[in-house]
Amino acid sequence: MCLYLPSCNRTGRNNFEQHAFASSLRTPTWESWHKRFGHISYSGLQCLHDLWLIDSFTVDEQSPKLDCIACVEAKQTVKPFGKDIIHNTTPGELTHIDLWGKYPITSIHGNQYYILMVDDSTRYVTLNFLKLKSQAPKHVQNYLTYLTTKNKRPCAIQVDCGSKFLNAQLENWCHENGIQIEATVPYSPSQNGVAEHIVTTEVFFFLLTHQTACDRVQILPDSFV
Ligand SMILES: [Zn+2]
Repeated sequence: MCLYLPSCNRTGRNNFEQHAFASSLRTPTWESWHKRFGHISYSGLQCLHDLWLIDSFTVDEQSPKLDCIACVEAKQTVKPFGKDIIHNTTPGELTHIDLWGKYPITSIHGNQYYILMVDDSTRYVTLNFLKLKSQAPKHVQNYLTYLTTKNKRPCAIQVDCGSKFLNAQLENWCHENGIQIEATVPYSPSQNGVAEHIVTTEVFFFLLTHQTACDRVQILPDSFV
């Protein structure tokens, strides 16, 4: 008669327990690895797997490569409205404004928001970094005042109504200075396409990278100043 005695390791857990635990863990699917690797493409995952580039990268190769809802939604874009509209504004007359944030990671200077102001006529870009959302109205007011010191005549600002950074003080100030506030339809960023488009450009990433040097950066076309 043969009696099998399970061996014990240093932790006191026998091999039977460990094997039972291991078998209870399912081999990760393609979908789970897609999420673990920050939503990398399935073709990229396949390449990593086939070339054995990562240790312990075991995958259930029969698992389906399902469409990821987060990836599909993140890649959806809507073309700005009225691209063929001729902008015949003068420099400083109309400014497109958009507020972004709150970002979960603060910058070196402790900022979690940025506000983007784009001149409609020249595409003059001003980017200010904010610690608080409540600072946004003051930055708008400062920018519009700055325009007047440069002999510009600000007549209107276009803002994303969904951002809700406007407050009564700024609205009153604009009203007193004859500046019209044009709000887009809530949650329709395409209507504020100028400011939205800037965020997707290389110029914008240039601006963001210069945040380490100051809290305000500008791109000034020669025709503006
Ligand atoms: Zn994804």
